[in-house]
Amino acid sequence: MQNASNTQEVVEIDGSLGEGGGQVLRTCLGLSLVTGKPFTITNIRAGRRKPGIMRQHLTAIQAATQIGEAEVRGAKVGGLELEFCPCIIKPGNYHFSIGTAGSCTLVLQAILPALMVADGASEVILEGGTHNPMAPPYDYLANTFLPVLSKMGVEAGVKLDRPGFYPAGGGRMLIQIQPPKRLQPIVLDQRSDVEISARGVCAELPGHIAKREMDVVQRRLGLAEEQVELCQLDKYGPGNYLALYVRSEELTETFSGFGEKNISAEKVAGRVVKEVQRYLASGAPVGPYLADQLLIPMALAGGDRFRTSGLTAHALTNMDVITKFLPCRFDVQEVDDRVWEVRFIAFVEHP
Ligand code: ATP
Repeated sequence: MQNASNTQEVVEIDGSLGEGGGQVLRTCLGLSLVTGKPFTITNIRAGRRKPGIMRQHLTAIQAATQIGEAEVRGAKVGGLELEFCPCIIKPGNYHFSIGTAGSCTLVLQAILPALMVADGASEVILEGGTHNPMAPPYDYLANTFLPVLSKMGVEAGVKLDRPGFYPAGGGRMLIQIQPPKRLQPIVLDQRSDVEISARGVCAELPGHIAKREMDVVQRRLGLAEEQVELCQLDKYGPGNYLALYVRSEELTETFSGFGEKNISAEKVAGRVVKEVQRYLASGAPVGPYLADQLLIPMALAGGDRFRTSGLTAHALTNMDVITKFLPCRFDVQEVDDRVWEVRFIAFVEHP
């Protein structure tokens, strides 16, 4: 497939690579838009129990297609292969609706790289799930990811019109992005003293669920009453969400938990507390989720480095996919048994 204006070599990706999940596809979409390189992908999400394109991925493909005036083949639910050939990056006002509780922030993951380097501002409305397990929740986007991007020069604002929990969905958020003239490389290799706070939300569920979660959080992390907040919503449910914010001078990390049927509130909270404790014990500033999400911005900025408390299969896979589109490599060093340092190395000087 050849878009009239695009004569670049096609990047060929095997979607079963590494983690073999949806992120392989999203990184391809994002970097194809940024570089103008077309790509084909086979074995989409081969590493998942139900492989192929799902609604959330299809919306990401459609969003990237609109923003990049791309030609696309194979964009259908259940599809295992896709061809994508972008033309330009068109900043502007967009509205994408997933139609299920699929994650809005994951759709954003596919288009944000392009909107961050576009030659104008954009405003994007996303509808679907805003607080999903296995995806960045809205709070993470607002408190962790976008503030780090803003340190790199991206002016980004986000607003939650209404939350959408799995399985009901129905959430809506608005993101405004003003790209900088040039993305600034970021170094996140140390973390100063931290302050911790927590928030528990129950939407159309008994308030004692979030209260019990906060009791665990307070007891195990030694938080005072004023460090925790409970929020009861009488609509948008059913949903239960808890967030733990670890603020340092360098950044805020957000750790999330979700109420599940047949799992006690105490257990849900206990899992998140453990994640926080692992992060605190490491002394590294970047948590495991931010580590995989920071790789693309870092690559687009042409540098620099961070230290993380966890290097996941997602991060390693993302590094692999990025190097298929950009002339670069990532240097990974184990600093000790709970900290890794990741450094971006460009093969050509950043333009
Ligand atoms: P699938 O693999 O089923 O296609 P997917 O499309 O949801 O799933 P993954 O490939 O699993 O995507 O990628 C999930 C993304 O969500 C990763 O970038 C990961 O860092 C991020 N993520 C998952 N959980 C959290 C969390 N609790 N906080 C922040 N980010 C998260």
